[in-house]
Amino acid sequence: MKRIKKLSVVLVTMILVSAKNPVWAEDKTSVEITDEEFTVGYTDGDSRIDSEISLKKEKKKKDKAAPKIVVKKYYTNKKRRVRIYAKDKSGVAVLKLYRGRVTSKNSPKWKKARKIKSGRRYTLKKNSIYSIYAKDTAGNVRIKRFSSAKRKTFRITAYCGCRLCNGRWYGQPTKSGRKAIAGKTLAVDPNIINLGDHVKIKGHNFRADDTGSAIKNYRIDMYFNSHTTGNRWGVKYLKVIY
Ligand SMILES: [Zn+2]
Repeated sequence: MKRIKKLSVVLVTMILVSAKNPVWAEDKTSVEITDEEFTVGYTDGDSRIDSEISLKKEKKKKDKAAPKIVVKKYYTNKKRRVRIYAKDKSGVAVLKLYRGRVTSKNSPKWKKARKIKSGRRYTLKKNSIYSIYAKDTAGNVRIKRFSSAKRKTFRITAYCGCRLCNGRWYGQPTKSGRKAIAGKTLAVDPNIINLGDHVKIKGHNFRADDTGSAIKNYRIDMYFNSHTTGNRWGVKYLKVIY
């Protein structure tokens, strides 16, 4: 931000010359800049002063002297598996996987973490944050985190306990046997989301307890207390974490 502020001052007082197509900015004239890098220049007496400016955010310098970690996910509706690859010029001495969020290389949690092998397949628990720790033979450490949750946009419709919504299943409990609860119960395609699984929509926790003849693939039916409130919901396309 500092840089951009400085730049706007430069723009109103100096002459701007783009590398390819010069744009002249006179006093109090604003110039729209789309290029990410360009040159600002002005003449001071006989000498010309140019300076290069980049609008690109400066990337954090990555710690090159630490193992590279790559996570390859193999997620199905039944199992979530990963292969974790760690590479380093000097060789990887320690590779660990921890179920939970670890943000420090020196955390005592790493002592409890499971030792794993690079490239081997591991099964994960659903909807969890995992942390990886890799140390090379020279002692350089890199940590990385990833989530085992799936994210996908679903078509979300509404239903209630009424005869119209339930047809011949009217008056019966949900597929899982639990009583349907508004704000909690979802009907899903069990080939996509397992029955009994927790599902997050817009930060709210639901549970996949029911099914529906029309609820196939990336569709969800959300349970409401009344047909009217269900109608008010209508159809929404929302990101679902499951
Ligand atoms: Zn209804």
